[in-house]
Amino acid sequence: MKYAIYCGSSRGSDPVYATAAIDLAEQICRRDHSIVYGGASVGLMGCIADKVLQLGKGVIGVMPKALTDKELQHQGLTELLIVDDMFQRKAKMAQLADAYIAMPGGVGTLEEIFEVWTAGQLGIHQKACAFYNVDGYFDELIEFMTTMVKKGFMQPVYLQKLIVHDDPEQLLDAIAAYRAPKDKWQ
Ligand code: AMP
Repeated sequence: MKYAIYCGSSRGSDPVYATAAIDLAEQICRRDHSIVYGGASVGLMGCIADKVLQLGKGVIGVMPKALTDKELQHQGLTELLIVDDMFQRKAKMAQLADAYIAMPGGVGTLEEIFEVWTAGQLGIHQKACAFYNVDGYFDELIEFMTTMVKKGFMQPVYLQKLIVHDDPEQLLDAIAAYRAPKDKWQ
């Protein structure tokens, strides 16, 4: 199993996020799985890549040309793919991964996970989407999604099928057990 990891190009204000990135990396490696991510050496992106590499498992980075300096492209990856732009990065990561995980991050992280989640609702793929809810980071976002359901803008099944865990082992177990719902127009 290869997971796309979407996460902050920053480390956040609390060391709990970097620790959680390392915990997730350990769980992934224990299962002999691998990751694809944005290819940066900075922030939580760098944390999780470093740990997976240190534990001897595969890390593919997908970096747009224009960001190779800004996000300080990681020098020790199993494979680094340089693409033309952000759109290609997202498409390549989505294509290579078997499941999608968002860790704490900023708008870049949210944009990436929402894109693959909406694609899942349209039946474009049948892969799991998950939020690694470290220290309740996504609580308000999940709460807002319940508002979307209550107000009739999202079918309940899509929120029920969204995987949200603060424990990396349970998160990966839920991904392994995931079965996609019918797409929204069926
Ligand atoms: P952030 O969560 O804002 O720190 O961003 C995390 C990662 O998402 C960084 O590698 C950003 O370059 C990347 N990112 C931000 N916006 C986009 C986008 N539109 N398409 C692809 N990647 C993006």
